[in-house]
Formats: sequence, C-alpha cells, structure tokens
Amino acid sequence: MVQTKSVGALPGGGFLLAPVPSEGIFTRAKFDEDSYEIALEFRRFYENEVLTRVNELDAKAYTEVDGKKIPLAIKILRDAGELGMLSAEIPEENDGLGLDVRTGCLFSEFSGGCSSFAVTMGAHQGIGTLPIVYFGNDEQKERFLPRLATGEIISCYALTEPGAGSDALSGRTTGVLSDDGTHYLVTGEKTFISNGAWADIAIVFTRIDGLYSCLVVDLHAEGVSRGAEEQKMGQLGSSTTALIFEDVKVPVENLLGELGDASRIALNILNLGRLKLGFGCLGSMKYAIDKAVTYGLARKQFGQPILSFDMQKGRLAQMVMKTYAVDALSYRVAGEIDEEIEASGDGDKQAKKVSVVRRHALEASICKILGSESLHYVAQNAVFIHGGYGYLNEYQVERIYRDNIVDMIYEGTNDVNRMVIFNDLIRNIFSSEIPFREKVGNLEAKIRKGKISLKVPESVPESLAPSYKRVMASKNALLYALNHCLIHSGKNVRNEQQVMRDISDALMSIYAMDSTLAKVIELVQDKGDRTTGAEQAIARLVVHEGTKSVRDHSTEALLGVASGGELKRKLEVLAQLYVPMTSHEPVAELKRQVADAVLEAGKYCF
Ligand SMILES: Cc1cc2nc3c(=O)[nH]c(=O)nc-3n(C[C@H](O)[C@H](O)[C@H](O)COP(=O)(O)OP(=O)(O)OC[C@H]3O[C@@H](n4cnc5c(N)ncnc54)[C@H](O)[C@@H]3O)c2cc1C
Repeated sequence: MVQTKSVGALPGGGFLLAPVPSEGIFTRAKFDEDSYEIALEFRRFYENEVLTRVNELDAKAYTEVDGKKIPLAIKILRDAGELGMLSAEIPEENDGLGLDVRTGCLFSEFSGGCSSFAVTMGAHQGIGTLPIVYFGNDEQKERFLPRLATGEIISCYALTEPGAGSDALSGRTTGVLSDDGTHYLVTGEKTFISNGAWADIAIVFTRIDGLYSCLVVDLHAEGVSRGAEEQKMGQLGSSTTALIFEDVKVPVENLLGELGDASRIALNILNLGRLKLGFGCLGSMKYAIDKAVTYGLARKQFGQPILSFDMQKGRLAQMVMKTYAVDALSYRVAGEIDEEIEASGDGDKQAKKVSVVRRHALEASICKILGSESLHYVAQNAVFIHGGYGYLNEYQVERIYRDNIVDMIYEGTNDVNRMVIFNDLIRNIFSSEIPFREKVGNLEAKIRKGKISLKVPESVPESLAPSYKRVMASKNALLYALNHCLIHSGKNVRNEQQVMRDISDALMSIYAMDSTLAKVIELVQDKGDRTTGAEQAIARLVVHEGTKSVRDHSTEALLGVASGGELKRKLEVLAQLYVPMTSHEPVAELKRQVADAVLEAGKYCF
C-alpha cells in the first residue's frame, strides 16, 4: 500500500490553518493494484450490465428469473451480489470483502453514468446495510449481512417522514413494547424511500419510549404497506415510495445499538453517504465529459468540429477543472480517513471507522456539495456542447442533468450541508480542536506590523509558486473575515445563515484549491515539467477561480455582520490581504492547453 505523508492532518477545517500539503495527499494513482483491480472488475460489470441498459432501467423494465418476473434493476443487483460486488465494506467475517474506505469510494466513482442504478445500489449496500455493519451486534450481523452481501435480501433506509425532512430527527413513527416484551409494535409513515417498492428489509427510525431509535424491519410483515411509485423528474429507474407501518410486529432483537441511538446512527451513516455521493457525482462528471468530447469532435458546424471553437474549448476546460478539483479533494478525504483508521492501532475496526469519519464530517459535506454542484455545471455544459441534440434523450446527457438535481437535495440538502460545514468549523474553533486562535493571533500581529510574507517551500515547483502564494493568501483573507464575524456575532453567528453560507463557500473553494495544488505539486515533483503541462494549467486555473470566490465570499461575510466605520476599516485590511491573491494568469491560453489535452486523448484523461 502506498502511504501518503499526511498523517496528522487536521480534519474538521484544519486545512484552513495549515500550509498547502506540498508533501503529497492520497490520490487515485496511489491505490494498490489488488484494490484497484477489484474495483475495475466492478466497473467492467457496470459498463456491460448497467450502462448498456439505462433506458430499460429508466422504464423500470421487468425480466424473468426462474419463471418469476422481477425488476431488471433487482436482477442486476443480485448478479452484482453474486460476484461479490455488494459487499465492499462488509467485514470478511460476515462474507464481505472488508475493503477500506477509499476502495469503497472508488466503487462509488465507478457507479457513475447511471444515477438510477447507483441509488438502487447505494440505498441497499450503503445506507441500507452499513447501519448493521457499524451498529449491529454479532447476532444481527450474522443474521443479515451474508444475505445482504449476495443481494438475496434487499434493504433500504427509512428516515424521512412527511413532517420530518431536513429536521430528520423529528420523526413521529413510534414503537411500543408488547406486554410480553418480545417485540415492538411500529406505527407511522416514511416518505421518499429509495428501493421502497423492492426492499425486503428497512432500517427504520422509530420513537420508543420517547427515545428516537433504530430498528431493522421486515417489510413482508403484516401491517406494512408501500405507497405508489413517486413520479419523479429524474432517476426514473430507481424506486421511490412511501412505507406505511400499522402495528407492525418487530422483534426486540432487531433494535440496532441502544434505545435513543437514532441520531448517532443516522448522522454517522449520513457522513459516509455524503462522501460516497460526491464520488458517484465524480464518476458521472467524467462520463458526461466523455460524451461531450465524443460528440463535440464528430459534430461539425461552419466546416469545423464544435470542440475546435475557442469558446467551446473554454467551456470544456471549465468542466475538466471542476472535475479534477473534485477528484483531488475527494480522494484526499478518503485517504486521510483510512490513514487515521490505520494509525489508530488495534480495537473495534467498525467503531474506529465511525469515529474517524465523524471527525471528517466537514470534509465529507464538502465532497457532497462540490460533487453535486460541479456535476450540475458539467452536465449542463455537456448538454450545451450537444446543442439541440443534448436536449434529446438519445444522447444521454440530459438524463445525467435531470438525475443530478436530487443529488443536491438528498443526504441532507446542500443548504443543510453548508450548515454542517460551518457548525463543525465553529465547534472545532471554540473547542480548540483546531489551532484557530493561535493562527489568527499571528495573522493579526503581522497585519499590525504591516509584514505579511508568504513563504513558498523549496519542494514547490517554480511554475506553481505563484499559485501556492495565492492559496496561502486566500487562507489569510478567510481567517481574517471569519475572525471578525466571530468577534462581531460570537456564537450567535450560527443564526446568521447568509454569513454562514459565505464562509462555507469560501472554505470549500480553499479546500478545492488546496487539494488540487497539492496533487499537482506532487505530480510535478515525480514526473517533472515536460509531461505535466495540462495538470499544471488545471491547478493554475483552479486557483485563479478559487481566489475570486474567496474574495467575493469573504467580503460578503463581513458586509453581513459589520457596518459604518468598523466595516470600512475591516474592508481596508481585507483589501490589503487580497493583493497577493491577484492573478495575472493567461487564462484563455491555459484553458486551451487543458482542452487540447482532453481532445487529443478523446476523453477525460487525468
Ligand atoms: C428521489 C429521492 C430519494 C430519497 N431517498 C430517501 C431515502 O432512501 N431515505 C430517506 O430517509 N429519505 C430519502 N429522501 C428524502 C430526502 O432526504 C429529503 O427530501 C431531504 O432530506 C429534504 O427534506 P424535505 O424534502 O422535507 O425538504 P425540507 O426539509 O422541507 O426543505 C425545503 C427547503 O428548505 C430548506 N431548509 C430546511 N431547513 C432549513 C434550515 N434550518 N435553514 C435553512 N434552510 C432550510 C432546504 O434546504 C430546502 O431548500 C429522498 C428524496 C428524494 C427526492
């Protein structure tokens, strides 16, 4: 296994306070051969069995197995299960592959191109199975996991209720202990449940004795009914229904964890779900770029291919930059999580995984937001490269665009995830989990002395030194703006939602710049200048764009809290901090370089 050198990296927004990691982060190129080969086998299966049948899946086609008609999606899911592909994160002792987090994430990337099936699979093997992996006792694991691993039984995750959406833990489904103490009688309604029509069991969040808890419910039990299929905008091939429970008998042995554990289970599962959703979006970004490149090279107008026009090259380069940044930051998070788990020694591996992922919840939310919103940009522009044909189902990119909308809504809306980012950051600052006070004190002292030097380590290639300085200057600007928001509003800043949004957006831009630059610095260290021109151009462009975002959002944040003379003074300081962020990059030329590299390869090639 190739080790990255970031052990000790501070999660929970710590990257804002640290130098750009010029010594390397985990990247896709660092997978060991065995893990990568297992994931590639899954991708080959996916390309043959799923991507060739997306229209049938979207039509919710049925197929015959042993004389019985079953949904095509379930047949493919079971085939995947038989090949061992539903059990990446099920422990080996429960008949799973027991792979690390990053390989599970690679599987998610490889499910790109068909969100409908990715959701069917994710609702089963992710949010529908992982609560048992992480919070189940030995008996529950033995009872459920081997059959979930093969797809013999299908699962789903039932948290949302008509009155409990973003306020997910306010559900009113109740479980009452029977007189003989052998089972709970569950009554209530869950809505929007992926796999609702097809699942055999559900992870159901239920209030028992006033304590919000989590049960595994047999969906074939008496008293369970399923709502009609929701008629959706996208992800037409996935099943989404309500689940209605009326005095459903659930054995007490099916309680996951302890009474009152719902929030521990739901939120921890969501942290992982968000990370993986980002990876699924990454896979779809690459898929949409490949479709756009194939079409844009073949289609001619005014006697030349669409993608030979300069404006279209600029568009393609923007799509590629966003994809590269999401790739860099997502594998960085997954790698850091595994490293921290490995470094934490012996003990209950599943419990360690949960607590380490929790420490990276802020970064997981960044993966979810930037993954889903970058896919939105990429899919929309893939449609535009296709012109009118992009609007037709036949070319597939409109499907990616429609399917993507819900990525910004489920697993916590992107608004809710922005709150997670901000609240985690503030909590880590107030609890001194990250050395914010120390860093900001140093910065304020330097501002008073008028001496802010931005040193670039020798390990950073000369060509990337200006970008390095801009990222470090961006960190100073956001530190300053955030500190003054905190001084002004204290802990009440949590109620200033618009300020919260600006700070979260600036922080995300910094993470995207930091990770992209770190990845390309290491690449240039390893391979030199000659073969890495396009990647260097990408890094410079990501930093160019990112600094604009940090500047806008830091200014807006201050405008949101301060006023009058105080505001004027703060904005003057910010203006000084912005000076080293100023970019003189030859943007159009860099974009041409990126687009030409992709056009020469005929596909996304990084
Ligand atoms: C196709 C699909 C599949 C799904 N699959 C599942 C599943 O398998 N299991 C499951 O349990 N759920 C599932 N969901 C439900 C999904 O998680 C919820 O729709 C989502 O959490 C949002 O809840 P809501 O729809 O009630 O929106 P609301 O919570 O009503 O939000 C409406 C708007 O208000 C905003 N908002 C809400 N609270 C705040 C606040 N405090 N501050 C500022 N803005 C706020 C939101 O960001 C949003 O813009 C699915 C949904 C869909 C559409």
